[in-house]
Amino acid sequence: MEIALVGIGKIAVDQHVPAIAQSPDWDLSATVSRNGSVSGVPAYTDLDRMLEDRPDIRVVSLCLPPVPRFEYAKAAIKARRHVMLEKPPGATLSECQELAELAEKHRVSLYATWHSRQADMVPAAKAWLADKDLRYLKITWRENVRQWHPNQDWVFEAGGLGVFDPGINALSILTEILPDPVHLTSAELHFPGNRETPIAATCRFSHPAGADVSLELDWLEPGEPKWTIEAETEQGRMLLENGGGKLTIDGRIVDEHDGLAGEYPRLYAQMAQLVRRGGIDMDLSPLRHVADAFLLGKRVTAPAFDW
Ligand code: NAP
Repeated sequence: MEIALVGIGKIAVDQHVPAIAQSPDWDLSATVSRNGSVSGVPAYTDLDRMLEDRPDIRVVSLCLPPVPRFEYAKAAIKARRHVMLEKPPGATLSECQELAELAEKHRVSLYATWHSRQADMVPAAKAWLADKDLRYLKITWRENVRQWHPNQDWVFEAGGLGVFDPGINALSILTEILPDPVHLTSAELHFPGNRETPIAATCRFSHPAGADVSLELDWLEPGEPKWTIEAETEQGRMLLENGGGKLTIDGRIVDEHDGLAGEYPRLYAQMAQLVRRGGIDMDLSPLRHVADAFLLGKRVTAPAFDW
């Protein structure tokens, strides 16, 4: 199937272009980006123009930051194209709902992707937790914003989520692997004095059986990133590391894979299936937790941040 990639920036170049290139399902037939392009692929700077010129391209994958992405998604759906959204699926919950309703109305597929759910050991972690009695779960997501979002000011502008941009990846795994839903009960958000989004955060969650569930996010980690979920149950301990790439149960490594490697190829394989069978895949539970943190979270002023 022919696909167009919109917003040729960091994640498009790092992950989407290679994943499409190695996929048997897709041909990258156009890009839409004001500045970026992909060598050998017809490049547009305007989405409406591409949609008009290329009726053969039935699928559009949007890699823009969340705030500008909504108008692009709306335009593509109204032009009856199937749409794949980077995470988070929107800047607000209402926006996402509107896109889902629009996709239903225009009978196109819409896929709100959560790349971290595709990490190698996430299914095994989910299977292990399925019949366990949870006592304690702690998410620690610490990384260096200067490494992962170099000079991307949008992450610190309203709607850019700040440290919840990576934090929502952890929440996408949490909401995938836990058999019982949790809800946020308190949060502390650290906003640099000169920025509109938090650079660090802690959150606590209520679990139906009373387990102690918490999240710690930090964007000023100087060393190697730490993307870890540790769980203690009545029946044993689980440690999910490398953002879902490595799983250890009761001190024994179950398996270990290289970070992001398989995530985007799996997303594109799923998009191909979704387009073939039709329908909407939009789970908003990770974004709902982030919205709750912004609703209920206590705001603390942190030192100013500059790149
Ligand atoms: P980015 O490089 O800053 O932005 C991607 C591209 O979007 C830009 O190069 C720009 O292309 C276009 N764009 C930016 N602002 C725009 C605007 N206001 N209007 C129209 N186009 C605009 O961001 P990214 O790191 O790739 O992240 C994009 C999405 O992927 C985010 O939702 C992020 O959470 C997700 N993601 C990022 C990473 C990562 O490691 N960075 C990992 C996983 C997922 P032009 O200037 O050429 O138009």
